Amino acid sequence: MQPPPPHRAPPGQEPLYLSPRLAPPLASALKAAELLHSLTDALGSPLNLVLPEQLAENVERFRAVYRSHHLAGEIFFAHKANRSSALARQLAALDAGMDVASVAELQHALGAGFAPQRIMATGPKTSEFLWLAARVGVTVNLDSRAELEELAALVRKHALPRVAVLLRLSGFRGPGAPVLSRPSRFGTDLAELDGLLEAVERHQDVVELTGAAYHLDTMGLPEKAIALEACVNVLDECRRRGLRPRAVDVGGGYGVNYLADQAQWDRYGTELTNAVLGRRPPLTWQGHGYGLRAEAGTLRGTLGLYPGHRPVAAAGYLEELLTLQAPSLGRPLATLLLENLYDLQIEPGRALVDQCGAVLARVVEVRHTADGVPLVRLAANAGDIGLEQHGVLVDPLLIDRQGRGWADEAGPVGVHLAGNLCLESDLITRRQVFLPRLPQPGDLLAFANTAGYCMDFTAHHAMRQPLARTVALYREDGSWRWRLDDQYWPIFGTRENS
Ligand SMILES: *Cc1c(COP(=O)(O)O)cnc(C)c1O
Repeated sequence: MQPPPPHRAPPGQEPLYLSPRLAPPLASALKAAELLHSLTDALGSPLNLVLPEQLAENVERFRAVYRSHHLAGEIFFAHKANRSSALARQLAALDAGMDVASVAELQHALGAGFAPQRIMATGPKTSEFLWLAARVGVTVNLDSRAELEELAALVRKHALPRVAVLLRLSGFRGPGAPVLSRPSRFGTDLAELDGLLEAVERHQDVVELTGAAYHLDTMGLPEKAIALEACVNVLDECRRRGLRPRAVDVGGGYGVNYLADQAQWDRYGTELTNAVLGRRPPLTWQGHGYGLRAEAGTLRGTLGLYPGHRPVAAAGYLEELLTLQAPSLGRPLATLLLENLYDLQIEPGRALVDQCGAVLARVVEVRHTADGVPLVRLAANAGDIGLEQHGVLVDPLLIDRQGRGWADEAGPVGVHLAGNLCLESDLITRRQVFLPRLPQPGDLLAFANTAGYCMDFTAHHAMRQPLARTVALYREDGSWRWRLDDQYWPIFGTRENS
């Protein structure tokens, strides 16, 4: 059968690539085309890949920031970013702890090899979760005063050991400014601090206050500087009351740099704006604007996208935070922590699994829309590949079926990527994606760097479509080996010193 003619970009409309940033291990794994095809043949599409060995480098980058500021304290991986057992077990073998937010995550962390002292329970909790945390001796990052009261009652009623607790705070206000941080449904508002501390004092026989915490769902550094300084002030107040806290927990939100090329990202933003304003053909399915719209020739709305190219991310972001001046006290935040001999605790999710995974999806069909744009249907849906849902725009890599010729060697080609649900809205991305060539059924598309939230967080069973299996890839004797996620333990593989 003759393949349909490829859609070629009209002259003057060069492809707009958003190439993924790939660390050498992930790049190497995604070049192992034969392995990836046989894995998907055997285990189905979609297929999640995790690279546990990358975690060592990611933890070390955060550790290096601690060292450079002479700070001590734990790095807790926010488990919610990925469900993988291989990643959890590998982390258990490293200088990191685990931040768990459900009973099942706590059970998983314990089973992966984390001793309770290396685990912290965060988020709003059920009684069962509080009981198990207290029973085994996990630190409880308290979400509210009511939670403290419930925990204290549980410990007394069931004669549990005294529990280490942190106070998660919210509602921070800058010096002389109105409320700066967005309202949060988590944590205790600073306005209610007195009541909270009074309860901590009253329950001192069953809980031991070890510190103050925040987790702000923002990239704004000034907001976090205000929160960090506020936590130090709260701990001062705790000491005045005779309590002996020792840590500030600054939560997660360090971010990931997804794109290889700043210029591609800038250009895409410009062209998307032009498309929304009608100055160029649409770049998206039905002219979707990712939050932007045109009103009488003027651009309105705000771009609802993740900043795909982020020069300051992950450990680099922590470094920036620690070197910022405390807004009122006027010293670097790291100095503030050091002066008080406070440990720094962090809860990175997305950033700690940077470069630790990918999703593979098989191309099922290539057809053309009425306006001639190829529509590539994948054996996966938008729930399996969460990049779009998180506002992350990044190109997939085309992994052709070995040994088969190409319908069109000339490429590049702009395509739409559709999923396997009978829903008009099931697009892997609403963006027209440029590929070096027109894919064919049987080819794979690899969505790189999905381990943080974009792999199994949103996967579901709609239409009884298969959930992706997860495979751990690791290096042994110079080549890639694999195990099903639950068959991987950190005893496999030999890290090559390169
Ligand atoms: C989600 C979450 C994190 C991790 O956030 P990232 O943006 O993935 O780093 C850390 N702490 C808490 C309490 C969270 O809810």
